[in-house]
Amino acid sequence: MKLTVIGCSGSMSGPTSAASSYLVRGQGGGSILLDLGAGTIGNLQNHIDPLSLDAIVLSHLHADHCADLAAMHVYRRWHPAAPGTPIPVYAPADAGARLQQLADDSACEDYSPEFDFHVVAPGDTVSIAGLDLAFSAAWHTVPAVSIRVEDRVGGGRALYTGDSDLNDELVAAASEADFVLAEAAFEEGRDTVRGVHMTGIRAGQLASRAADVGARFTENGTLVLTHLQPWTSVEKALADARSAFGGEVSVARPDAEYEI
Ligand SMILES: [Zn+2]
Ligand SMILES: [Zn+2]
Repeated sequence: MKLTVIGCSGSMSGPTSAASSYLVRGQGGGSILLDLGAGTIGNLQNHIDPLSLDAIVLSHLHADHCADLAAMHVYRRWHPAAPGTPIPVYAPADAGARLQQLADDSACEDYSPEFDFHVVAPGDTVSIAGLDLAFSAAWHTVPAVSIRVEDRVGGGRALYTGDSDLNDELVAAASEADFVLAEAAFEEGRDTVRGVHMTGIRAGQLASRAADVGARFTENGTLVLTHLQPWTSVEKALADARSAFGGEVSVARPDAEYEI
């Protein structure tokens, strides 16, 4: 499968990237979007017809991961080629209620022509157009999940941590993937609060611990850091992650593509 970075700026749009969104296309032709953060529907249109997506999967309902649901709603309701059938939206809380807040719609607004909302929980699995999704618990400030995607045709597996600090559940989920897209919003030594985000070091520890478990992720596995906040040093995040993990480490950029 191919994973394309649509937006990767942490917690908000930044000077060179929109907030969080990643496009996953399987070898069987399925396409899903992981998160739809602020500003991401713009660059999304450079990579795919938004109307052709098979599903939208939200790691959680913080605005930097879901704000462009409001834009997608307008797109799907008013685009001349809009299909008139809903796209499934999976999220760990009520995304329809969040959309109503974002769009300032009335409480009786009917989103069913555009979206088919589903609430997911850790342990749930969903299959969409040849892509198998598995949700695991994230450690964040609101209900949040990490998302593993497996291409049933091509066989590759990716884990997107969403927003999460490092914990055992995340290590277990990463160990089952070939490719780990890990948030590293915080900076070691500067951001000391726990239970919100990883740092570069903790993202590196995630990869090294996953490789130690050895279920699927290995010493040669790929770790990509993402969700760095606009004021977080890319160089320090990379150096910190590399101090904890000897495999390949890079930082996500808009439009980067990974074959998994
Ligand atoms: Zn975030
Ligand atoms: Zn968040």
